[in-house]
Amino acid sequence: MLDQVKIILVGTSHSGNIGSAARAMKVMGIEHLVLVDPQCEVDAQAIAMASGASDIALNATTVATLDEAVEDCTLVVGSSARSRTLEWPMLTPRECGAKFAKEGLQNKVALVFGRERTGLTNDELQKCHYHVCIPANPEYSSLNLAMAVQTLCYEVRVAHLEQEQAHFHADVETEYPRHQELERFYHHLETVLLETQFIKPEQPGQVMNKLRRLFSRARPEAQELNILRGVLTAVEKRFRHSK
Ligand code: SAH
Repeated sequence: MLDQVKIILVGTSHSGNIGSAARAMKVMGIEHLVLVDPQCEVDAQAIAMASGASDIALNATTVATLDEAVEDCTLVVGSSARSRTLEWPMLTPRECGAKFAKEGLQNKVALVFGRERTGLTNDELQKCHYHVCIPANPEYSSLNLAMAVQTLCYEVRVAHLEQEQAHFHADVETEYPRHQELERFYHHLETVLLETQFIKPEQPGQVMNKLRRLFSRARPEAQELNILRGVLTAVEKRFRHSK
Protein backbone atom coordinates (compact mmCIF):
# COMPACT_ATOMS: atom_id res chain seq x y z
CA MET A 1 0.00 0.00 0.00
CA LEU A 2 2.76 2.49 0.95
CA ASP A 3 4.20 1.88 -2.49
CA GLN A 4 1.15 3.57 -4.02
CA VAL A 5 1.73 6.84 -2.19
CA LYS A 6 3.34 9.77 -3.99
CA ILE A 7 4.72 12.72 -2.10
CA ILE A 8 4.65 15.80 -4.29
CA LEU A 9 6.62 18.93 -3.48
CA VAL A 10 5.60 21.97 -5.49
CA GLY A 11 8.10 24.75 -6.25
CA THR A 12 10.53 23.92 -3.43
CA SER A 13 13.28 26.54 -3.15
CA HIS A 14 15.60 25.09 -0.48
CA SER A 15 17.37 21.91 -1.53
CA GLY A 16 17.88 20.97 2.12
CA ASN A 17 14.11 20.66 2.45
CA ILE A 18 14.03 18.15 -0.40
CA GLY A 19 16.64 16.07 1.42
CA SER A 20 14.84 16.35 4.75
CA ALA A 21 11.53 15.45 3.11
CA ALA A 22 13.18 12.37 1.54
CA ARG A 23 14.36 11.29 4.97
CA ALA A 24 10.95 11.94 6.51
CA MET A 25 9.40 9.75 3.83
CA LYS A 26 11.86 6.89 4.02
CA VAL A 27 11.54 6.43 7.77
CA MET A 28 7.81 5.97 7.19
CA GLY A 29 8.34 3.52 4.33
CA ILE A 30 7.20 5.88 1.56
CA GLU A 31 9.50 6.16 -1.44
CA HIS A 32 7.93 7.98 -4.38
CA LEU A 33 8.98 11.61 -4.45
CA VAL A 34 7.89 13.97 -7.22
CA LEU A 35 9.23 17.50 -7.60
CA VAL A 36 7.01 19.95 -9.46
CA ASP A 37 8.90 22.87 -10.97
CA PRO A 38 11.61 22.88 -8.27
CA GLN A 39 13.47 26.15 -7.71
CA CYS A 40 16.63 24.34 -6.65
CA GLU A 41 18.70 21.28 -7.48
CA VAL A 42 19.06 18.00 -5.64
CA ASP A 43 22.53 19.18 -4.58
CA ALA A 44 25.06 18.34 -1.87
CA GLN A 45 22.91 20.10 0.73
CA ALA A 46 19.92 17.95 -0.21
CA ILE A 47 22.00 14.77 -0.03
CA ALA A 48 23.45 15.78 3.34
CA MET A 49 19.99 16.41 4.80
CA ALA A 50 18.63 13.20 3.32
CA SER A 51 21.29 11.19 5.16
CA GLY A 52 20.46 7.50 4.55
CA ALA A 53 17.54 8.48 2.30
CA SER A 54 19.60 10.05 -0.47
CA ASP A 55 18.32 7.36 -2.87
CA ILE A 56 14.83 8.84 -2.55
CA ALA A 57 16.06 12.37 -3.28
CA LEU A 58 18.20 11.18 -6.21
CA ASN A 59 15.41 9.04 -7.68
CA ALA A 60 12.83 11.82 -7.43
CA THR A 61 10.90 12.48 -10.62
CA THR A 62 10.81 16.08 -11.81
CA VAL A 63 7.85 17.43 -13.75
CA ALA A 64 6.73 20.91 -14.82
CA THR A 65 3.17 20.98 -13.52
CA LEU A 66 1.02 19.56 -10.76
CA ASP A 67 -1.29 18.07 -13.41
CA GLU A 68 1.51 15.89 -14.70
CA ALA A 69 2.49 14.82 -11.20
CA VAL A 70 -0.99 13.57 -10.30
CA GLU A 71 -2.22 12.30 -13.66
CA ASP A 72 -2.24 8.63 -12.57
CA CYS A 73 -3.66 9.25 -9.09
CA THR A 74 -7.27 8.68 -8.02
CA LEU A 75 -6.96 10.62 -4.79
CA VAL A 76 -5.12 13.93 -4.41
CA VAL A 77 -4.86 15.70 -1.07
CA GLY A 78 -3.28 19.14 -0.74
CA SER A 79 -1.73 20.23 2.53
CA SER A 80 -2.10 23.75 3.74
CA ALA A 81 -1.27 25.58 6.94
CA ARG A 82 -4.34 27.77 6.78
CA SER A 83 -7.79 27.51 5.37
CA ARG A 84 -7.89 30.23 2.76
CA THR A 85 -10.82 32.09 1.34
CA LEU A 86 -11.42 28.83 -0.47
CA GLU A 87 -14.09 26.57 1.06
CA TRP A 88 -13.00 23.01 0.37
CA PRO A 89 -13.59 19.53 1.83
CA MET A 90 -11.15 19.26 4.74
CA LEU A 91 -9.51 16.27 6.34
CA THR A 92 -7.69 16.02 9.64
CA PRO A 93 -4.28 14.34 9.33
CA ARG A 94 -5.79 11.19 10.87
CA GLU A 95 -8.66 11.08 8.41
CA CYS A 96 -6.17 11.70 5.62
CA GLY A 97 -4.07 8.71 6.79
CA ALA A 98 -7.14 6.48 6.88
CA LYS A 99 -8.25 7.51 3.38
CA PHE A 100 -4.79 6.85 1.99
CA ALA A 101 -4.48 3.47 3.69
CA LYS A 102 -7.81 2.40 2.19
CA GLU A 103 -7.62 3.87 -1.29
CA GLY A 104 -3.90 3.11 -1.60
CA LEU A 105 -4.72 -0.60 -1.61
CA GLN A 106 -6.12 -0.25 -5.14
CA ASN A 107 -4.90 3.03 -6.59
CA LYS A 108 -2.17 5.61 -6.63
CA VAL A 109 -2.70 8.41 -4.14
CA ALA A 110 -0.91 11.74 -3.79
CA LEU A 111 -0.11 14.10 -0.97
CA VAL A 112 0.82 17.59 -2.21
CA PHE A 113 2.99 20.13 -0.38
CA GLY A 114 3.48 23.78 -1.24
CA ARG A 115 6.27 26.31 -1.48
CA GLU A 116 8.17 27.33 1.64
CA ARG A 117 7.12 30.96 1.45
CA THR A 118 3.75 30.94 -0.22
CA GLY A 119 2.36 27.41 0.01
CA LEU A 120 0.10 26.15 -2.77
CA THR A 121 -1.76 28.53 -5.07
CA ASN A 122 -5.55 28.50 -5.11
CA ASP A 123 -5.38 27.00 -8.57
CA GLU A 124 -3.24 24.13 -7.26
CA LEU A 125 -5.45 23.67 -4.21
CA GLN A 126 -8.47 23.38 -6.49
CA LYS A 127 -6.89 20.41 -8.23
CA CYS A 128 -7.05 18.48 -4.94
CA HIS A 129 -10.00 16.39 -3.78
CA TYR A 130 -9.40 17.36 -0.18
CA HIS A 131 -7.24 19.67 1.88
CA VAL A 132 -5.48 18.57 5.01
CA CYS A 133 -4.39 20.90 7.77
CA ILE A 134 -2.16 19.95 10.69
CA PRO A 135 -3.88 21.54 13.70
CA ALA A 136 -0.89 23.55 14.90
CA ASN A 137 -0.68 26.61 17.14
CA PRO A 138 -3.11 29.09 15.53
CA GLU A 139 -0.67 31.90 16.27
CA TYR A 140 2.14 30.13 14.43
CA SER A 141 0.74 27.32 12.36
CA SER A 142 3.20 26.96 9.53
CA LEU A 143 5.47 23.94 9.87
CA ASN A 144 8.74 23.58 8.05
CA LEU A 145 8.01 21.78 4.76
CA ALA A 146 9.84 18.55 5.66
CA MET A 147 8.21 18.46 9.09
CA ALA A 148 4.80 18.72 7.50
CA VAL A 149 5.83 15.83 5.24
CA GLN A 150 6.93 13.90 8.34
CA THR A 151 3.71 14.46 10.23
CA LEU A 152 1.43 13.45 7.38
CA CYS A 153 3.54 10.45 6.29
CA TYR A 154 3.44 9.26 9.89
CA GLU A 155 -0.35 9.35 9.85
CA VAL A 156 -0.42 7.38 6.62
CA ARG A 157 1.90 4.77 8.10
CA VAL A 158 -0.04 4.41 11.34
CA ALA A 159 -3.31 4.00 9.43
CA HIS A 160 -1.65 1.44 7.17
CA LEU A 161 -0.32 -0.55 10.14
CA GLU A 162 -3.72 -0.48 11.84
CA GLN A 163 -5.33 -1.76 8.69
CA GLU A 164 -2.80 -4.59 8.43
CA GLN A 165 -3.38 -5.51 12.07
CA ALA A 166 -7.13 -5.63 11.52
CA HIS A 167 -6.64 -8.01 8.59
CA PHE A 168 -4.23 -10.13 10.57
CA HIS A 169 -6.72 -10.51 13.40
CA ALA A 170 -9.52 -11.34 11.02
CA ASP A 171 -7.34 -14.06 9.46
CA VAL A 172 -6.36 -16.02 12.53
CA GLU A 173 -9.49 -17.50 13.96
CA THR A 174 -9.10 -18.24 17.61
CA GLU A 175 -10.72 -21.43 18.75
CA TYR A 176 -12.45 -21.15 22.08
CA PRO A 177 -13.57 -24.08 24.20
CA ARG A 178 -17.25 -24.94 24.45
CA HIS A 179 -19.11 -24.46 27.67
CA GLN A 180 -19.05 -28.18 28.32
CA GLU A 181 -15.27 -28.31 28.02
CA LEU A 182 -14.90 -25.42 30.42
CA GLU A 183 -17.16 -27.15 32.92
CA ARG A 184 -15.05 -30.30 32.66
CA PHE A 185 -11.98 -28.21 33.35
CA TYR A 186 -13.56 -26.60 36.43
CA HIS A 187 -14.58 -30.00 37.66
CA HIS A 188 -11.07 -31.34 37.11
CA LEU A 189 -9.59 -28.30 38.85
CA GLU A 190 -11.87 -28.72 41.84
CA THR A 191 -11.04 -32.41 42.09
CA VAL A 192 -7.32 -31.67 42.18
CA LEU A 193 -7.72 -28.84 44.66
CA LEU A 194 -9.73 -31.12 46.96
CA GLU A 195 -7.35 -34.03 46.53
CA THR A 196 -4.36 -31.88 47.37
CA GLN A 197 -6.37 -30.32 50.18
CA PHE A 198 -5.93 -26.82 48.88
CA ILE A 199 -9.69 -26.71 49.35
CA LYS A 200 -10.96 -28.23 52.56
CA PRO A 201 -14.20 -30.15 51.87
CA GLU A 202 -15.69 -28.98 55.13
CA GLN A 203 -14.78 -25.36 54.39
CA PRO A 204 -14.67 -24.84 50.64
CA GLY A 205 -15.12 -21.06 50.82
CA GLN A 206 -15.29 -19.03 47.62
CA VAL A 207 -12.16 -20.45 45.98
CA MET A 208 -13.89 -22.12 43.05
CA ASN A 209 -16.09 -19.09 42.36
CA LYS A 210 -13.09 -16.82 42.36
CA LEU A 211 -11.15 -19.15 40.10
CA ARG A 212 -14.09 -19.33 37.72
CA ARG A 213 -14.16 -15.56 37.63
CA LEU A 214 -10.43 -15.46 36.94
CA PHE A 215 -10.70 -17.89 34.03
CA SER A 216 -13.77 -16.16 32.63
CA ARG A 217 -11.84 -12.93 32.57
CA ALA A 218 -8.82 -14.51 30.92
CA ARG A 219 -11.01 -16.37 28.44
CA PRO A 220 -8.62 -19.24 27.72
CA GLU A 221 -8.44 -20.51 24.16
CA ALA A 222 -9.06 -24.20 23.41
CA GLN A 223 -5.35 -24.89 23.22
CA GLU A 224 -4.64 -23.06 26.47
CA LEU A 225 -7.36 -25.03 28.20
CA ASN A 226 -5.72 -28.24 27.01
CA ILE A 227 -2.48 -27.11 28.63
CA LEU A 228 -4.27 -26.42 31.90
CA ARG A 229 -5.90 -29.85 31.78
CA GLY A 230 -2.47 -31.35 31.16
CA VAL A 231 -1.08 -29.53 34.19
CA LEU A 232 -3.90 -30.87 36.38
CA THR A 233 -3.35 -34.41 35.13
CA ALA A 234 0.38 -34.16 35.86
CA VAL A 235 -0.31 -32.93 39.39
CA GLU A 236 -2.82 -35.74 39.95
CA LYS A 237 -0.42 -38.42 38.74
CA ARG A 238 2.42 -37.19 40.89
CA PHE A 239 0.18 -36.75 43.90
CA ARG A 240 -1.34 -40.24 43.65
CA HIS A 241 2.09 -41.67 43.07
CA SER A 242 3.51 -40.09 46.21
CA LYS A 243 0.57 -41.03 48.44
N1 SAH B 1 3.44 30.32 4.38
C1 SAH B 1 2.96 29.14 3.75
C2 SAH B 1 3.46 27.96 4.50
C3 SAH B 1 4.26 27.14 3.68
S1 SAH B 1 5.00 25.87 4.58
C4 SAH B 1 1.48 29.12 3.77
O1 SAH B 1 0.90 29.82 4.56
O2 SAH B 1 0.87 28.33 3.04
C5 SAH B 1 5.28 24.73 3.26
C6 SAH B 1 4.26 23.67 3.10
O3 SAH B 1 4.26 22.82 4.25
C7 SAH B 1 2.84 24.13 2.95
O4 SAH B 1 2.53 24.52 1.66
C8 SAH B 1 2.09 22.88 3.33
O5 SAH B 1 2.10 21.99 2.25
C9 SAH B 1 2.96 22.34 4.44
N2 SAH B 1 2.49 22.74 5.77
C10 SAH B 1 3.09 23.56 6.64
N3 SAH B 1 2.38 23.72 7.76
C11 SAH B 1 1.27 22.96 7.60
C12 SAH B 1 0.13 22.68 8.41
N4 SAH B 1 -0.02 23.24 9.61
N5 SAH B 1 -0.80 21.84 7.91
C13 SAH B 1 -0.66 21.28 6.71
N6 SAH B 1 0.39 21.50 5.91
C14 SAH B 1 1.35 22.33 6.34
